[in-house]
Amino acid sequence: MGRLTVIIPSFNEEDNIDNTAKAIGSALDEAGIDFDLLFVSDGSTDATFDIIERLSKEDKRIGGIQFSRNFGKEAAIFAGLDYAKGDCVAVIDCDLQHPPATLVEMYHLWEEGYEVVEGIKSKRGKESPFYRLFTNIFYGIMSSLMKIDMNKTSDFKLLDRKVVNALLDLPERNTFFRALSFWAGFKSTHVTFDVAERKAGKSKWSFSGLVKYAISNTTSFTTAPLKAVFVLGMLLLVFSVILAAETLVNYFLHIAADGFTTVILLLLIIGGCIMISLGIIGHYISRIYEEVKGRPRYIVSKITSEDK
Ligand code: UDP
Ligand code: MG
Repeated sequence: MGRLTVIIPSFNEEDNIDNTAKAIGSALDEAGIDFDLLFVSDGSTDATFDIIERLSKEDKRIGGIQFSRNFGKEAAIFAGLDYAKGDCVAVIDCDLQHPPATLVEMYHLWEEGYEVVEGIKSKRGKESPFYRLFTNIFYGIMSSLMKIDMNKTSDFKLLDRKVVNALLDLPERNTFFRALSFWAGFKSTHVTFDVAERKAGKSKWSFSGLVKYAISNTTSFTTAPLKAVFVLGMLLLVFSVILAAETLVNYFLHIAADGFTTVILLLLIIGGCIMISLGIIGHYISRIYEEVKGRPRYIVSKITSEDK
């Protein structure tokens, strides 16, 4: 037995907080689990934090913090890990897409001695074809790099205190929670769950948000794109040796005049590759710059009284 802290990242979720607190609270109460709920309002501009404050007055097991602006779900999760006091810590979405019953299941696995319990989606929820294509590409790359099927992973997990401390000890700021729990190791297992429909409000993801998320997570986790640039460069080199040979042969056979197509194509291909490569390298440099600046991952502006 031990206390479970449930971290709930919430960004403009005023229509969900009450229900979510009730649903999670009653599921855990019924199972006789000692718990507290930690809402992390990620710079919500609606009544989200007021509702959290009201709930925290009614039930002292409920608390929360409010960011000074929107710092993103990753930051909200890590703030939650920073503030969590439980012997084990779970992260769950605020829109009840992650079933509270699975949380109970996770807790029991923790009691059995597992230190990381991953929530794996039995299948992906309703998504537009465009979104699906995009996430398939992103997770395809990540999965082959990580050697785990990232496609069905989620941020819905339960971690032992030891694992939480290990993650908090990481010096970097650009993190990818979903993969870090695998990376950390420890005694792990998983539970599968069905992704429910979002209870209220809209998904907070825009397409550009997703692209940024994919790029930032790939680069925070791996330097593979840099290596890919190198391989690309090598391939081009081989290609250009062949073309050079051909051009020279043509030259000596005096049939070289109509080579403009090749020249233009080559310029385009090589120019394009150089631009992409520079872009990738530039992106990594900007990541290094961000890490070196050492800015905090998030700034807390308000906090419910119990957590002070
Ligand atoms: N969220 C957050 N900060 C953000 C975006 C989302 O804390 O900038 C929270 C949101 O309130 C929800 C969870 O992250 O609890 C998942 O977000 P959402 O449901 O919008 O994503 P989806 O389920 O569509 O992937
Ligand atoms: Mg959702």
